[in-house]
Amino acid sequence: MGAARARGLGRFFERDILRGMSLDSATLLAPRFARVVLPIPVEQAFTYEIPERMQGQIAVGCRVEVPFGKRSLSGIVVELAEAADVPRIKPIHELHETFVSPALLDLAGWMASYYGCTRGEALQSVLPPSLRRAKLRAKPTGIARVADEVLRQNGERSDEYAAVQKKLARAKRQLALLTELLSAGGEAPVPAILEEWGYAREVLDGLAARGLVVIEAIERYSPLDALEAAVETLTAAQTDALLLIERTLASRAFAPILIHGVTGSGKTEVYLRAARRVLDDGGGCIVLVPEIGLLPQATARYRRAFGEEVAIIHSRLTGPDRFDIWERIERGEHRVVVGPRSAVFSPVKNLRLIIVDEEQDESYKQDDKPRYHARSVALVRGRDENLTVLLGSATPSAETLRHAAEKKYALATLPGRVGGGVLPEIEIVDMREEKSRGQIFSPRLLERIEETIAAKHQVILFLNKRGHARYVQCNACGDVVMCKNCDVSLTFHRVGDRLKCHLCGYERAAPQACEKCRSRQLHFTGVGTQRVELELKALFPDTGVLRMDADTTTGKEGHRRILEEFSTGQYPILLGTQMVTKGHHFPNVTLVGVVSAEEGLNFPDFRSAERTFQQLTQVSGRSGRADAAGGVVIQAYSPDHAVFRHLVAHDYDGFMREELETRKALNYPPFSRVVLACCSAADAGVLNSFMESWAAAARSLLAQRNVAVLGPAPPLVPRVKNRYREQILLKGAITQGDKDAMLGAFRDLVARGRGRSNIELRWDVDPETFL
Ligand code: ADP
Ligand code: ZN
Ligand code: ZN
Repeated sequence: MGAARARGLGRFFERDILRGMSLDSATLLAPRFARVVLPIPVEQAFTYEIPERMQGQIAVGCRVEVPFGKRSLSGIVVELAEAADVPRIKPIHELHETFVSPALLDLAGWMASYYGCTRGEALQSVLPPSLRRAKLRAKPTGIARVADEVLRQNGERSDEYAAVQKKLARAKRQLALLTELLSAGGEAPVPAILEEWGYAREVLDGLAARGLVVIEAIERYSPLDALEAAVETLTAAQTDALLLIERTLASRAFAPILIHGVTGSGKTEVYLRAARRVLDDGGGCIVLVPEIGLLPQATARYRRAFGEEVAIIHSRLTGPDRFDIWERIERGEHRVVVGPRSAVFSPVKNLRLIIVDEEQDESYKQDDKPRYHARSVALVRGRDENLTVLLGSATPSAETLRHAAEKKYALATLPGRVGGGVLPEIEIVDMREEKSRGQIFSPRLLERIEETIAAKHQVILFLNKRGHARYVQCNACGDVVMCKNCDVSLTFHRVGDRLKCHLCGYERAAPQACEKCRSRQLHFTGVGTQRVELELKALFPDTGVLRMDADTTTGKEGHRRILEEFSTGQYPILLGTQMVTKGHHFPNVTLVGVVSAEEGLNFPDFRSAERTFQQLTQVSGRSGRADAAGGVVIQAYSPDHAVFRHLVAHDYDGFMREELETRKALNYPPFSRVVLACCSAADAGVLNSFMESWAAAARSLLAQRNVAVLGPAPPLVPRVKNRYREQILLKGAITQGDKDAMLGAFRDLVARGRGRSNIELRWDVDPETFL
C-alpha cells in the first residue's frame, strides 16, 4: 500500500491532471492539510487537517473518513496542502484501506474537462454511489441447488410438488426463488441469487432450512469446461477475430477493434474467449452491456463461463452492496466485471481488455451530469492504460463505422449466423390505406399472427413508444389536453382513467367534456400498448397476450417475471415497447411484428434514420433464432424510405454508406462534433435575452473557428416543470478551447447579473438526444 501511494503521488504530479495542485507543498514538506472531494453535488473540495498519527500516510487518492456537518462522510484526497485556506479546520477521522488509483483519478480529471463538470461530479460517477463505509460482510459463495427430490417432483408435475408449493404459500419470496431456481435448471451461484436476482439471504436460508435447497460450498463451475462444452470449434470468422484480438492483446498497446456481426453470429462467444485469454494471462477485463432490465439474461453466459470470478454490476444494486463489490474488485477477487455504463470505472486489477457490447446503444450515454458516454470513456481509459478495446455490434454507430473505415480501428467481421441459420425474412406492409380506415393491424400481419399461433410458435409485437402516447383531443374544436407545467400533451392511461405527464409526473382525471368548448365529443388518438392489447384480445380471444411496457414492469421483478412467463410458452403473444427489442433469446419466436415503424423516423434528430434501422434490426433479430425460419412484418406509412429498402435486404453497410453521405453533406457527426447547451429559467423573457447575449458572445468568440453557433431556439418541448427552455447548438471542429470559451462566456454573463432569474444550464457534449 505504501509503495502504491508513493507511485500514485509521483505519477500524479508528473501529469498534473487535476487543477490547482501545487508541487512543492506536497513533496517537500510533510503536508498538514488535505483537500478532500466528497460524494455530494458541490463544486469544491474541502480542507481537513491531517492528524499527527496519519502523518506521512496520506496521499492523493486515499479514501478518508471526515466530519461533514453532523455526518461523517468518506471522500477522496485530491490534493495536499501546507497551509489551510479557511479557518476552523476539522481533522480527518480515519484513513481507509482502499485507494483510488491514479489512473481512475486521471480519468475523472479527463471527464471533468471534456464534459465540462466539476471534479466532484466526475468522481461521483467514477466511484460507487455510496462511499459510506459498507458493513463488513463475508462474501457470499457457493452454489444453491434444488434438492434432487424436489427437482424430480417438479419434473413430473406430481402432487408432491403441489404440496411443496402449498407449504410455501405463506413464504412467497421462498416460493418465488424456488420457482426461479427450477426455471434456471435447478441451480445458481449464491452471489447471483443475492446480488442479481435480488433475494435476501434469509429467503435462501429459509429454503435451505426446509431442505428444499442445498447450498454447496464447492467451486463446481470449472470455467474452462463450461466454456468449451458449450461451443466446440469456432467458425473461421470467429477464429480470425480471436487471432486479431490475441495479437492486439500481446502488443500491450492501445488498440480498438470493431467486431461487426449480425445477431447470432457468435460475437459473445468471441468475447468470452478473449476474456478467458486475458484471465489466463493474469489480467482482468470489463464487459459493458446496455442498460436494460434484462441483465440476468445478458449475463448468464458470463456467469457460466467464469463462475465467481465474475462480478455483475447493475443499477439496482444498493449503495452498500455496490461498494462491497467495488472493494472485492479492487482486491482482485473478481477479474471480470460485467455491467452497464458505470462498470467502465471498475478498479479491475491488471486491466487489459474492455468490451463494449452493442456499442451503438443509447443507454451508454448518461442522462445526468456529467453526461458521459461510456464508449468514449472506455476508449480514453484504453488509451491511457494501453488496453485492447472491443466494440461489438450488429449495427455499429456511424462514429465507429467511420473510424473503422479510416483504419483507426481494426475490423473483424462475422458475416453470417453460426451454423448457417438464416436471417429472418422481412416484409414491409404499406399502411397508408389502413390508416385512413383507422386500423391498427393490416390483414397481412393478422394472417401471419394466426399462422404462427396455429403452428404453436410465438409472436413478439413491437410498438415504438416515441410519439405513440395516447392523448385526448376534442373533435369539435381540436383542443388537446396538455400538461399544466410542460408543453406536452398528457398521456391517457386506461387504469383509473387518468391523464399523466411523462415529463413532470403531473396527473389528473380524464375530462368528460372539452374544457375549451364544452363539447362532449372527446376522442382518444394515438395508439398505446394498452389499446393494442385490447384490440388483440378482441381479435384473438383465446390467445394469451403478455404486455411489457413501463406500466407493467414496475418493481424489481417486473421484467424478469414477464420474460419468464413468456418463455414458458403459455402465452403465444408478447406485446411491448423498446424493452422487447433487446437481449432475448426465445427459440420459439418465429414472427416479429412491428405495429408501426414511423415514429422514430420522423423524430427531429440527425440520428433518427440510423436509430430506426438499428432498432428494427434488433427487434427483427428476435425472430427465428432456432431451427425454424423466422419472419418479420413491418407496418409502415412511408414504405419507400431508404431505411426500409435496405432493411429488407439486410444491408446495413449499404444503408450506412448513404447515411454517411448525408451526414457529411450536412456536417453532422461523425464529420463534426456537436455540443448542446440547453438553458432553463422560470421567466421566458429573461431566458431569451440571456440566450441571445450568450449566442452573440459565442459568435464573436468562435468567429475565427470552424464552429457554427445555431440558435438560440426552443427545443421540441419548450417548457418543462414550469421552466422555459432554449438551446444553442455548436457544430463543427469543436476543440477543448472552444468549449472552455463557451462555458467562460456563460459564467461571465451569469456574474454580470444576466442570470438573476436563476438560469440553469444543461451542457451536453456529444449529445445523443435533442429533446
Ligand atoms: P451474438 O453475440 O453475435 O448474438 P452468440 O455468441 O450469442 O452470438 O452466438 C449465438 C449462438 O450460437 C449461441 O447460442 C452460441 O452458443 C452459439 N455459438 C456461437 N459460436 C458457436 C460455434 N463456433 N459453434 C457452435 N455454436 C456457436
Ligand atoms: Zn373543444
Ligand atoms: Zn408536465
